[in-house]
Amino acid sequence: MDGNALAKQVRISVKKQTALLPQPPGLAVIQVGDNPASMVYVANKRRDCEKCGIISHAHLLAEDAGQDTLLELIRRLNAQADVHGILVQLPLPKGYNADAVIQAISPEKDVDAFHALTMGKLYLNCGPAFEPCTPAGVIALLDRYEIDLRGKHCVVVGRSNIVGKPMGTMLLHRHATVTICHGSTVDLPSHTRQADVLISAVGKAGLITTDMVKPGAVVIDVGINRVGDKIHGDVDFEPIEKTASFITPVPGGVGPMTRAMLMKNTLKAAQDYFMRGN
Ligand code: NAP
Repeated sequence: MDGNALAKQVRISVKKQTALLPQPPGLAVIQVGDNPASMVYVANKRRDCEKCGIISHAHLLAEDAGQDTLLELIRRLNAQADVHGILVQLPLPKGYNADAVIQAISPEKDVDAFHALTMGKLYLNCGPAFEPCTPAGVIALLDRYEIDLRGKHCVVVGRSNIVGKPMGTMLLHRHATVTICHGSTVDLPSHTRQADVLISAVGKAGLITTDMVKPGAVVIDVGINRVGDKIHGDVDFEPIEKTASFITPVPGGVGPMTRAMLMKNTLKAAQDYFMRGN
């Protein structure tokens, strides 16, 4: 499954729609400290914004700026008319309370979809709300390849708030039967072998081996693991590619789709802003 190609199509569509707005959407990206991985992610987001006709507002705070300074910046951006989406690059350095930071973002600008109100709307299936970018990217890929989820057994490995839990919920809304596995799951292979659609979001290279996958299954690899100078997913790609009906590569699968969904959410934030009569 080609995440790069679909992400490109999404960006082209977003660009067409941003051009129809009275003003370009604005995305504020806040980074605290100079974590090298975060620097790369933030630079990629800036490039994506440029491709989509979105204005990127970068805010780099020193690692020791402190929680109050960060919260004050968010309050300012919540009120700033040309900023429609706000994103805080995670993880934050030690000493910051990420939960409090996320809850300080106005739900109307919560383009990462991590706020409790956004999550609550997702779980209740009572949108329209933003959808978290990674699971939304997975769903977009499944749709693109016309994989009907109704009645399918989907097994999600990982239960984080940003991937596993919302992923399970979104699959449930598509009428799949969902199993969510985690670090305390006993006999993981006995669960994964039952999956028509297997989604791994753990962060352990080589976790999903060929004996854990039913022939013909759809395999989605969310994991990102740096091994030496290479990036690997959680899934043992080469042998499993031979037996799976569909599989996402790493890199080039879910990663670009996550970024594309952020652009889509930022467009939605701006569209909603202008629809409210601003
Ligand atoms: P996380 O918060 O660390 O969660 C990892 C989950 O995996 C936890 O629920 C954990 O269980 C579970 N787990 C750990 N070891 C396990 C095992 N042996 N068997 C079964 N489950 C196990 O990570 P995350 O933020 O969800 O991210 C997961 C991975 O996806 C990471 O590699 C991350 O870099 C990647 N990611 C990729 C994208 C993308 O765009 N492609 C986006 C986000 C994240 P417990 O809850 O029991 O601890």
